[in-house]
Amino acid sequence: MKTETIAIHGGNAVTDSLKPVIQPITLSSTYEHQEESMLYGRLENPNRKSLEHVMAALEKGLDAAAFASGNAAANAVFQALPAGAHIIAPDDMYHGLKSLLETVYKDKLKVDFINLTEPALVEAAICPDTRLLWIESPSNPLLKISDINRLSAIAHNRDLTVVVDNTFASPIFQQPLLAGADLVMHSNTKYIGGHSDIIGGILITGEINAFWKRIKAVQQLAGAVPSPFDTYFLTRSIKTLPYRMKAHAANAGKIARFLIQHPSVEKVYYPGLETHEGHAIASSQMQGFGGMLSFVPKGNARDADRFIAHLNYFTNATSLGGVESLIERRSRIQGVSEGIPEQLIRMSVGLENPEDLLEDLEKGLKLLQ
Ligand SMILES: *Cc1c(COP(=O)(O)O)cnc(C)c1O
Repeated sequence: MKTETIAIHGGNAVTDSLKPVIQPITLSSTYEHQEESMLYGRLENPNRKSLEHVMAALEKGLDAAAFASGNAAANAVFQALPAGAHIIAPDDMYHGLKSLLETVYKDKLKVDFINLTEPALVEAAICPDTRLLWIESPSNPLLKISDINRLSAIAHNRDLTVVVDNTFASPIFQQPLLAGADLVMHSNTKYIGGHSDIIGGILITGEINAFWKRIKAVQQLAGAVPSPFDTYFLTRSIKTLPYRMKAHAANAGKIARFLIQHPSVEKVYYPGLETHEGHAIASSQMQGFGGMLSFVPKGNARDADRFIAHLNYFTNATSLGGVESLIERRSRIQGVSEGIPEQLIRMSVGLENPEDLLEDLEKGLKLLQ
């Protein structure tokens, strides 16, 4: 099966003798004891199984474990590590995961946040306790590109597990397991759900090994599992994921090229631009550049806020990956830090007609001249 066919037929496991075309939602928390059956809803559920199946197929993996949020998925990886383990994580890491490591795991794990675009820095940071390399590419919010192939080779040389947060790319544009990663993580809240109405997360593995079995134990015993409703709607959304991603990327590419030539814009971060630092690597490891971009407008934070308030089709809200365009001044969420100027604007480009989006941005940017 090719990608679009997997997206439609890879989930949707119909076992009902009435043969409905679409898999029903199984709400039952328990099952009658028999030879071939499920046991209990925390351990497994038919709708969850379908979601795990289609995501494993799209990521070219062997198995998947779905969770109640992206953070819960990442948390299962951290929980599966031995106490005192050292992790190498990206300096431009999704802020919610960075906070998780810095608060909940403060006394349990050691973390170094490294610029992963410089593989030599990663190699130098590996110590005897290092167990895990966490990659996020493209990263949030600076759209940094890490060389998954090269970093995986360095990590495997020292027996580390490599995890890639593939949320921004989606499995349509990037399959990290094929580039050497061991695990892939997604916030299903974003492109997988695609309609800004579900919180969810998932891990996919390329191998069934002892570490994966520990992660499955965290899923089933710690029990941060998604509901049958959520997993049903995620499997439903995935049917259109390949087409949504192509349209998100086409719209984002148009907006990036419009912004970069605009006199009121100082800098644009989009891996599809030839001027982006990671463009060559992105071109070799991605099949599309995604729907996320950031840019620095002329002026200060107040000017950036005025620009955002003036827009009609971009809602001033955090999160990403839905059909509607969202925009925000990123430091409102994660504060000002190195490399993230206070006027940096992050945009999740939706599926509106690109001409309407460009016209809206043009009008807004006039305020800054
Ligand atoms: C949103 C997001 C997460 C966390 O996912 P939740 O579903 O909000 O828990 C992790 N990584 C990235 C890149 C994200 O965008």
